[in-house]
Amino acid sequence: MYTLIDGKAIAAEMRSEIKRGVDGFKAERNREIGLAVVLVGENPASKIYVKNKIKACEEVGIKSYAYYLPENAPQSAVEELVSGLASDDNIDGILVQLPLPAHLDSVKVLSFIPTDKDVDGFSVENIGKLAMGEKCLVACTPNGVMKMLEYYGVELTGKRAVVVGRSNIVGKPMALLLLNANATVTVCHSKTRDLKAECLKAEVLVAAIGKEKFITADMVKEGAVVIDVGMNRDENGKLCGDVDFETVKDKCSYITPVPGGVGPMTITMLMYNTLQSALFRR
Ligand code: NAP
Repeated sequence: MYTLIDGKAIAAEMRSEIKRGVDGFKAERNREIGLAVVLVGENPASKIYVKNKIKACEEVGIKSYAYYLPENAPQSAVEELVSGLASDDNIDGILVQLPLPAHLDSVKVLSFIPTDKDVDGFSVENIGKLAMGEKCLVACTPNGVMKMLEYYGVELTGKRAVVVGRSNIVGKPMALLLLNANATVTVCHSKTRDLKAECLKAEVLVAAIGKEKFITADMVKEGAVVIDVGMNRDENGKLCGDVDFETVKDKCSYITPVPGGVGPMTITMLMYNTLQSALFRR
C-alpha cells in the first residue's frame, strides 16, 4: 500500500509558517518584505504564473511589485529595469518570469539580479554555492521536493536516487540537493543508455522530463519513492505528470500525484526564498 504525498497540504502548512515569519520580520524591522516580478510580453502561461505568484504574496503578507513590459521591449529596457530593482532597498527578491521573448538574451538579463535577491536560485553563484554545499537561495521546485521528502520522513542517506532530467532549473539542482543529503545519485537524460535499467535501481526516483506518463510500472522498483515533477497536458487537455500514476502507484512506498504534488510546493518555496532573502540581507 502506497502513501500519497500531499503537496497541497504541506504547501498550506508552510505558507502559514512563512506568514508568521513575514509578520515577525515586519514587526521587528518595521518594514515590508518586497518581491519584484517582471513579465515581458504576453505569454499566456507566464501571465497565469505571475498572477498566482502575486496572489501567494498577498496570502503570506509579502508586498509584490509587478512590472509589465511589452513583447517588443528592447534588451536595454529590461536590463535597466532589473538593475534598478537590484539597487532598490525595498526589494528583497527579483523574479524575471521565463521564458523571455526570443529576441532577448535571458542569461544576460538574469545576470543583473544580485545573488542575494535571486529568489529563483537560478544564478551561477547560487548554483555554485549549492554544488559546494554552502547556504544559498535554492531553485524552488527541487527545494520543494526536498521539503516534501523531509515532511514525510523519507530517509535519504545511503539511498540510491535517480533523477531523470538534467535541466538547470530542475534536474541538476535536484541531483545536487539529493547528493548533499547523502544519497547516491544518478542523473539520466535523453542520451542515457538503457534508462529502464537505471530507473529500476532507484529507491528514490524523480521524474523531471516533460513527457506525459513516460515512467511506467516496468521502470519502477518495488517499494520506491516516486516524485513526479512533470506538468503536461494529456490528449484531453487534462494536467498530468511524467509518471503513469495509475499503473505505477501500487509499486511505490510513496508517490506524488499530479496535480496536487510538486506543483503547489513551487510557489510556496518562492515565498520561502523571499523571506530567506530578506532575512539574509538584513
Ligand atoms: P526541460 O528543460 O525540457 O528538461 C527535460 C529533461 O528531460 C532534459 O534533461 C532531457 O534530456 C530529459 N529528457 C527528455 N526526453 C527524455 C527521454 N526520452 N529520456 C530521458 N530523458 C529525457 O524541462 P524542465 O524545465 O526540467 O521541466 C521538466 C518537467 O517538469 C516539465 O513537465 C515541466 O513542466 C515540469 N516542471 C514543473 C514544475 C512544477 O512546479 N511542478 C516546475 C518546473 C518544471 P536532455 O538534457 O538530454 O535533452
